Amino acid sequence: EIPVLTIDGPSGSGKGTISRAVAARLGWHYLDSGALYRAVGVAAGWADLDLADPAALVRCAFDTDIGFRADPAGEPRVIINGVDATDELRTETAGAAASAIAAIPEVRSALRDRQRAFRRAPGLVADGRDMGTVIFPDAGHKVFLTASADERAERRYKQLKDKGVSVTLDGLLREILARDARDAHRAVAPLRPADDAVRIDTTGLGIEAVVERVLALVQP
Ligand code: C5P
Repeated sequence: EIPVLTIDGPSGSGKGTISRAVAARLGWHYLDSGALYRAVGVAAGWADLDLADPAALVRCAFDTDIGFRADPAGEPRVIINGVDATDELRTETAGAAASAIAAIPEVRSALRDRQRAFRRAPGLVADGRDMGTVIFPDAGHKVFLTASADERAERRYKQLKDKGVSVTLDGLLREILARDARDAHRAVAPLRPADDAVRIDTTGLGIEAVVERVLALVQP
C-alpha cells in the first residue's frame, strides 16, 4: 500500500506551501488538487463556456489536458492544453471559477480518477478540500489546516503581490470568505475535516513550525 498524507483546509490556510515542503522533505509526490479545478475553470473561460451550463463544464473537465511540470528553478508550472497557464491559474478570478464548477457533482467525479492516479511510490502528499474525506479516505495520515480569515487574506495578498497581481486586502478578504462559505456549504464534498484528521491552527505559526508538526505525524 503506497502511503498517502492528506492536507485539507480553506484557502490561505497554508496548505500549498506546507504540502510542497513536506513532500520535498519526504521525497513523495505532490498533488495540488485545487489546480485541477482551477484549470477546468480557466479552460472553460478560454472556451467561453457558460458557468451556468453544467453539461458543458463536465465535458470540459473530461477533455481538458492538465500537466504539471517544474521549471529550471524547480517552481511548479501548470500546463493546460499545452499552454503554460500558471500565472492565470493563481488569480482570484480563477479561484472563484474553480469554486463554482467544483460544486457540480459530475465535475468532481470526472476529476476523481485523475487525482487517485497521483498515488505512486514512494508516497503522496495530497492538498485540497476533500482529500481525506472523499478522494483518499483510507489515507494513513490526515491533516486539516486552519487559520484566521484575516491571516489567510494577508497570506494570499502577499503571494499575489509578489507575483505582481494588483489586489486590495479588503477585496481579497471578501472574496476568500465568499469562496469558503460556498465550499463549506455545497451539497457535494463540502469542506470539512475528516473524522480522523489532525487539526492544526496555523495562525501566527511560521512555515517551518507547521512543517515539523506535520512531519512528526508521518515519521514519529
Ligand atoms: O486550493 P485552491 O484555492 O486552489 O482551490 C480552488 C477551488 O477549487 C476551491 O475554492 C474549491 O472550491 C475547489 N476545490 C475543491 N476540492 C479540492 C480542491 C479545490 O472543491 N480538492
